[in-house]
Amino acid sequence: MNGIITEIQHASVHDGPGLRSVVFLKGCQMRCFWCHNPETISTSPQLFFDESKCMGCGRCLGFCEAHKLSNGRHRIERAFCTSCFRCVETCFTGALSVCGRVVSVDEVMRDLAEDIPFYGESGGGVTVSGGEPGCQSDFTAEILHRCHKMKIHAALETNLAYSRAILEKLVAGCDLVMADLKHIDSQKHRAGTGHGNEQVLENLRSLTVPLILRTPIVPGFNDDAGTIRRIAEFAVKLDTLQYYELLTYHPLGCGKAERLGMEERAKPQASPTINTTDYLIKAASETGVPLFLNGRRIVK
Ligand code: SF4
Ligand code: SF4
Repeated sequence: MNGIITEIQHASVHDGPGLRSVVFLKGCQMRCFWCHNPETISTSPQLFFDESKCMGCGRCLGFCEAHKLSNGRHRIERAFCTSCFRCVETCFTGALSVCGRVVSVDEVMRDLAEDIPFYGESGGGVTVSGGEPGCQSDFTAEILHRCHKMKIHAALETNLAYSRAILEKLVAGCDLVMADLKHIDSQKHRAGTGHGNEQVLENLRSLTVPLILRTPIVPGFNDDAGTIRRIAEFAVKLDTLQYYELLTYHPLGCGKAERLGMEERAKPQASPTINTTDYLIKAASETGVPLFLNGRRIVK
């Protein structure tokens, strides 16, 4: 069985307990305006252009109308690109590359197997992330299932915006779910992500595996005490909750968006101030929920 991924990251400390290998899948059904992994939104391979590596040699110019060189500066007019990727092969500096590759589950498992010695020592394992792994649910379920069979701790990073049938298929081989609840108000959730939150809430209530619930704090969208308190009140009632985590927005996705020609996503949002973060921590902790901020436990 094949799927499309952007990369397999090794020794990550940000995507679940211990040292983890993280498989990043392409494809997402949400359109969060602050997305920090814009390269995983599309399900197709994409041309990635890193201008800082371009020497202006002109070798790629002959392939199609998309490449323009003027005043020593190379631009790509995406409207002319048909994603043939012939130009990538000619670029010796690595300025042009393809984001996304099709791989089989066997290839993924061979790659992950090399990290097995590190998992046990650190209490880590494998995390399937994205994008939204539910968009490639058979591929994701097979990776999680094989990890589980090999006794590798298997975690899923997900937005949970899919049917109960897909959820059951995914969690069958899963030791931990790390899920986002981006807003408690469905209309606001839809305004920020393109989807209401009804399915997300229903799936959260029905989970039977350990859960870390997270909210990315995005100024102007959900950075008010009332919203965060309501999410924390919802979280504290969930049967399998390990803890609730606040993640402050960072603009790392903007550079990647620019290199992919996604100009509409290249403009950074403001990051939350320390004051804002402090009062959101206070609002959440008043509910009694076990609380983390950016990977660190908040001690009351
Ligand atoms: S991928 Fe193909 S169509 Fe797109 S810019 Fe390169 S050569 Fe042109
Ligand atoms: S081949 Fe690569 S280095 Fe040369 S102009 Fe094209 S993008 Fe720049």
